[in-house]
Amino acid sequence: MVAEPIDNIMGLSKLTKLPALGIDKESLASDYKRYFSYFLGREGRESEKHYLYFALALTIRDRLIERWKGTKRAYDESGCPRSHYLSMEYLLGRCLGNAALNLNLENELAAALQAYGLKLEELTTLEPDAGLGNGGLGRLAACFLDSCATLQLPVIGYGLRYEYGMFRQTINNGYQVEEPDNWLREGNPWEIKRPEYKQRIKFGGRTEYVDDGSGNWRIRWVDTKDVLAVPYDIPIPGYRNGTVNTLRLWKAKAIHVFDLGKFNAGEYPEAVAEENAAENITMVLYPNDATEHGKETRLRQQYFLVSASLQDVLHDWVHRYGENFTKFAEKNRFQLNDTHPTCAIPELMRLLMDVYNLKWEEAWKITSSTVAYTNHTLLPEALERWPVNMIGSLLPRILEIIYEINTRFLAEVAQRWPHDTDRQIRMSIIQEDEIKQVRMAYLAIIASFSVNGVAALHTRLLEQGLFRDFSEFWPHKFNNKTNGVTPRRWLAKCNPRLASLITTTIGEGWVTDLSQLRRLASYADDKKFRARWRDIKQANKKQLLAVFSHHGIQAGTDSLFDVQVKRIHEYKRQLLNVLHIIHLYDRIIRGDIANWVPRCVVIGGKAAPGYQMAKLIIKLINNVATVINHDPKVGDALKVFFLPNYGVSAMEIICPSADLSEQISTAGKEASGTGNMKFMMNGAITIGTLDGANIEIREEVSDENFFLFGLTAKEVQETRHHYDPNAIIAGDEDLQRVMHLLESGHFNQFQPGAFNPVLDSIRVDSRIFNPIIDSLRNPRDPWMVIADFRSYVNAQRRVAEAYRDQERWTRMSILNTAASGKFSTDRTIKEYNTDIWRLDQVPAYSTEGISM
Ligand SMILES: *Cc1c(COP(=O)(O)O)cnc(C)c1O
Repeated sequence: MVAEPIDNIMGLSKLTKLPALGIDKESLASDYKRYFSYFLGREGRESEKHYLYFALALTIRDRLIERWKGTKRAYDESGCPRSHYLSMEYLLGRCLGNAALNLNLENELAAALQAYGLKLEELTTLEPDAGLGNGGLGRLAACFLDSCATLQLPVIGYGLRYEYGMFRQTINNGYQVEEPDNWLREGNPWEIKRPEYKQRIKFGGRTEYVDDGSGNWRIRWVDTKDVLAVPYDIPIPGYRNGTVNTLRLWKAKAIHVFDLGKFNAGEYPEAVAEENAAENITMVLYPNDATEHGKETRLRQQYFLVSASLQDVLHDWVHRYGENFTKFAEKNRFQLNDTHPTCAIPELMRLLMDVYNLKWEEAWKITSSTVAYTNHTLLPEALERWPVNMIGSLLPRILEIIYEINTRFLAEVAQRWPHDTDRQIRMSIIQEDEIKQVRMAYLAIIASFSVNGVAALHTRLLEQGLFRDFSEFWPHKFNNKTNGVTPRRWLAKCNPRLASLITTTIGEGWVTDLSQLRRLASYADDKKFRARWRDIKQANKKQLLAVFSHHGIQAGTDSLFDVQVKRIHEYKRQLLNVLHIIHLYDRIIRGDIANWVPRCVVIGGKAAPGYQMAKLIIKLINNVATVINHDPKVGDALKVFFLPNYGVSAMEIICPSADLSEQISTAGKEASGTGNMKFMMNGAITIGTLDGANIEIREEVSDENFFLFGLTAKEVQETRHHYDPNAIIAGDEDLQRVMHLLESGHFNQFQPGAFNPVLDSIRVDSRIFNPIIDSLRNPRDPWMVIADFRSYVNAQRRVAEAYRDQERWTRMSILNTAASGKFSTDRTIKEYNTDIWRLDQVPAYSTEGISM
């Protein structure tokens, strides 16, 4: 009775050579209809709109799965080395449109749907964004996966399947309101649950030494409260190459459905509560970008991710090669996306020693030659430190291993620099304060064979500043990998009009070799080409204006679209942008409007819910926008719009329609930026500081096609000692007037005169913006907003002047796209592979003849 069905399953797996699924419109149409009517059991009512999308996703998914199997089989049979990308965040956005593009199904799908009176683009917008990330770091991970699949590299992404992703932002009376993002509510057609690969994760308990019977002392981690990790796999298609890689996301699951003792004692709710506690681990993404709060649940998430992922890799290894790890380091690399997965280091040591009986030296050799670390920030508040006590009670065995790593490391330091105890204290993994803390970045550097920054300046500042002691010790470990973005999503898909013009002009090779965009440069001198380029920008702007009109904002497509969208953070200096907006407003009121260029300023981004200053900046932007947009003296000369709920899908509409890209962080603070690259690719011109990848953008496009302003990183450091914002304000009439408008309450008080419900709604206590005013006037303002005001305003004057000459502007725009080739993640990933991973390209087996 029991054996028979198992035999049947074995027989099923031996089924051979199913024909490949059709990708013609007839096959697609019939599969679509079958999924909608039979699998989903729908009938085509208006209320069933969501299922129109779902049936389409399933139709595409079948085509992904056959390529997925072909890819897995090719990797498994070749025994190739693999890389494991460990990241707490993946900001994927929507999958359907991307899969349709990468599988080259767009035309046939559109035709298939047309037969049913449906539009492909409309159905794609029914998909909720997978918002499992905060911003740049999570989006980078998503772009990396796209490039790895496109380059046919055996790279698997590991992450967490948060039940709730990044919160939805709405704006109420100018204030940010957060709503939970229940993105899985309607089900997720892109994931496949794989309980057969579940793993057991330990928490709590204690360690004990036991004799293993042959005279060896072994360490056991006992009395733990375990949680199950269940993987959900998401297919990651390469661009038209038959490869589909894997993103494996872990969900926490309670081990016992309920505590039988409690259940029998009639404590049913208590028993279920325990189950909930375990499953809380992957309930929600922490919405802090570039700051850490030391919450225990966050540490649990981090360990849960790395323990599940490493056990998965080791189980697979043992399954294929037995408990022989001599070749493990040759065949595996682990890339840590920031310090969040740094527990992978002690966890790999633990598994190799405690589970597979390796000696410390053997385990360390494997660990320190497989782990590589990417740093993403120079902000001290973003450097992760975990209290020793917290790690000790949650992960006692892990803490022991961290201490042992530190002891051995400090002995090496003492050998290299005898008698330099200061250096030992500086470099210790343990920060010996009142509350002892583990410095995760130091642990990551010590155990990694590669440490990289994400832009040239950022890497240099790491070597010379934050990690100076370490780069003196191990100069060869440090290297730069300038970030990129995938040109599939960020040009081919989001800007079909421009993509099509580019393809008709230089062929389609640019999609996988972005350096070919260089060939567009000669067309910058072609008047007809410029006109077409301009028409496309106008059409894209119209599309964005349609979004604005839902919010009651109107502007002309001939106004300059001046855009700053990114997380709201003081270092990104949305405030500098606001000061400029107020300055423009002041000029209009004063009648200083000769040769005026109408502007539409768009700002968007989420503030971390606990970051009061960032939330206040959002309120200020909205108040300034309301006053300006309702002032009859302003009219079309200036429009200001705060775009709510900025995310991947919003960016896909915004970046094709921007004229001006605002990249105005305090120099030395933005590690790289990637928004800057998306805008450049889509023909926006950057106004920016010499920060992060802006420097490399300017190098590529040359100074005359970039609006540079502001202090350099070095000048920022030097100016700090004698920074006097009040003197700067006193010496600058424009700035004085701007400050006066802010400080007089122009943007927060009831306007005398006729009752206006809109303006009345933004009326607030006259002191509400005082924290902002104080920070601007504070000589210790770390972001030095006032220092760069004059230089920024002058650069904005040059922007307006350039824009007035539309032929000149269009030329600059074309040259920006033409020079953006470097910023493809294909280039970035090739560099990771050449310098760090050293993987071979492994083509997938063809779908013809894959046994399903
Ligand atoms: C690209 C991107 C970012 C990063 O933007 P920066 O300007 O580099 O900070 C953040 N969020 C989303 C949704 C993005 O697409």
